Amino acid sequence: MDIEIIAVGGYNEVGRNMTAVRCGKEIVIFDMGLRLDQVMIHEDADIENMHSLDLIEMKAIPDDTIMNAVEGSVKAIVCSHGHLDHIGAIPKLAHRYNAPIISTPYTSELIRQQIAGEQKFGVNNKLFALKAGQRYTISPHLTLEFVRAQHSIIDTIFPVLHTPRGAVVYANDFKLDRTPVLGEPPDFARLRQIGKEGVIALITESVNIADKGRCPSEKIARDLVRDTITSYEDDKSALFVSTFSSHISRVKTIAECAHEIGRKPVLLGRSMERYSSAAEQLKLVGFPESLSMFGNRRTVDRTLRRIMKTGKDKFLPIVTGHQGESGAILTRIVMGDTPYKLEKGDKILFSAKVIPNPMNYGQRYLVEARAKMAGVRIFDELHVSGHAYREDHYEFLHLLNPQHVIPSHGDIGMTGEYAKFAEEIGYTLGNDLHIMRNGKSILIK
Ligand SMILES: [Zn+2]
Repeated sequence: MDIEIIAVGGYNEVGRNMTAVRCGKEIVIFDMGLRLDQVMIHEDADIENMHSLDLIEMKAIPDDTIMNAVEGSVKAIVCSHGHLDHIGAIPKLAHRYNAPIISTPYTSELIRQQIAGEQKFGVNNKLFALKAGQRYTISPHLTLEFVRAQHSIIDTIFPVLHTPRGAVVYANDFKLDRTPVLGEPPDFARLRQIGKEGVIALITESVNIADKGRCPSEKIARDLVRDTITSYEDDKSALFVSTFSSHISRVKTIAECAHEIGRKPVLLGRSMERYSSAAEQLKLVGFPESLSMFGNRRTVDRTLRRIMKTGKDKFLPIVTGHQGESGAILTRIVMGDTPYKLEKGDKILFSAKVIPNPMNYGQRYLVEARAKMAGVRIFDELHVSGHAYREDHYEFLHLLNPQHVIPSHGDIGMTGEYAKFAEEIGYTLGNDLHIMRNGKSILIK
């Protein structure tokens, strides 16, 4: 049985991930992601109403028209986790394939919401929730297994496709966190076993390959956040924290620190409410009982008015806007677009890193400069990454011992750096190590 790996998206850039694996006449697709910054540069883009071909033209979603030339039928669409660069193109592309969408329960719920918001296409693919540790029989030849991983969103797994020629491991995205704040560490024992049984190909992310050492555990981020917040136990001024709304373990940490210093944690913003309430409903997280959340503009503004009246020191708002996005809660507060008035000594904590693109730098600069004019103190980078560093990749390769390695999820600087690293430990480019570009495919011999 021949195995072909088809690089559809995410091989020329960070974002819009999609990889197809063909085994004989059967195809399994991994991820269908969106590249958000490609949408943001078109100010009037209204994604929900746009046609997939226009979004492909904008390079916002993977160009899956190349799939027409691949012989075989798609048996399953598998999503590794719930970040938009892995599930965001589902509403635009999935309906073209007569196949179920398989993902963990949390990712499944986020996909369901994505599909519900779609205006242009009717997406009727069956959603199938598979838990970490479980298996799904795709066909007599192919079995899918979900192996527990860790990342900056809960319920992330390594999808492993068992084929007659060995396992194909899809590692987009992951970190090898042995002391996570939520969930269990990656299933090292199972990964080692799969390595012994035989891995024919590893498709792996390469975002942080240039970072030396190991990616710090989420426990370190918890210490950073806690160290700062608890320093202001007796402070009477405002404390705002902004973080990634999909980073549930971080939101939990911040909420617990608020509780610890006697402030009520309040989640503000549409996405903040959406991700956290879904996690709570699926019982994947427990927040302090004093936590409340408000999504729409009316309830957010009402809550901010109430905080002004009751006392800034009674609450700790956890808000959207760490990238300075216009319309996000923090941006609106700083621009004076809410009933909340910032004063000298108020504090804004960023539990996030600026995602490196010029637009974010500009927007974030504006928010910080305006806040400083009001006398606000800024705390930055109370954060650790969700992506494996160089030595994590080294450990991972030794666990799995794959015959072929394909770096993905990165521009050529990242996949190229990964190739350099893999050559150092014995792989050979063009032989058992492959740099792919969007639209290209490779036959695994
Ligand atoms: Zn991710």
